[in-house]
Amino acid sequence: MSKIYREDEGFNLDDAIRKVPDFPKPGILFYDITSILADPDAFSYCIEAMLKLYRNEKIDAVAAIESRGFVFAAPFCHKLGLPLLLVRKKGKLPGKTVERSYDLEYGTATLEMHKDDIVPSSQFLIVDDLIATGGTINATKAMIESCGAKAIRAFSVIGLPFLHFRETVEDLPIDTLIEYFGE
Ligand code: AMP
Repeated sequence: MSKIYREDEGFNLDDAIRKVPDFPKPGILFYDITSILADPDAFSYCIEAMLKLYRNEKIDAVAAIESRGFVFAAPFCHKLGLPLLLVRKKGKLPGKTVERSYDLEYGTATLEMHKDDIVPSSQFLIVDDLIATGGTINATKAMIESCGAKAIRAFSVIGLPFLHFRETVEDLPIDTLIEYFGE
């Protein structure tokens, strides 16, 4: 079952998220997490929430999505002593990679991970800052599975369920800290 973290009702995460209309193009409302990073209480709230969400899960490694997913995954992995694997746009990783392409609104995107760092049978948590259509997380899940490992949950600070990510990403519970329902 997917979870929306609600444990600390006292903290208003919404206040810490900058909303920028018409960025990067007209009609898109951009949810900017750099304002969370600039607010130590908000950033600490997010990392502590992640630690609480996964305290009873058997996670062997974390796959973090370029580039804002890295920022949330790194302190989480450091705290728990977990391997951190980076999911990057094609051409950025120097080693042997596994790759997956997926459709964007216009055109396609290709993501890569270092193949040798994906231990077969290990259980992955996927981390990103925001999940919209779910295409990025779906491609990451496919890369992990193509190497014989398993994605067991995905985490995103922000979720936009009106873009149907829970329908797109099948068989993977997706946890968020806050969800926005409007366009
Ligand atoms: P998706 O593959 O559609 O789930 O898109 C998720 C990726 O796109 C994440 O890495 C986000 O950082 C970025 N993204 C998509 N839509 C937005 C938005 N409205 N505000 C901020 N980031 C977004």
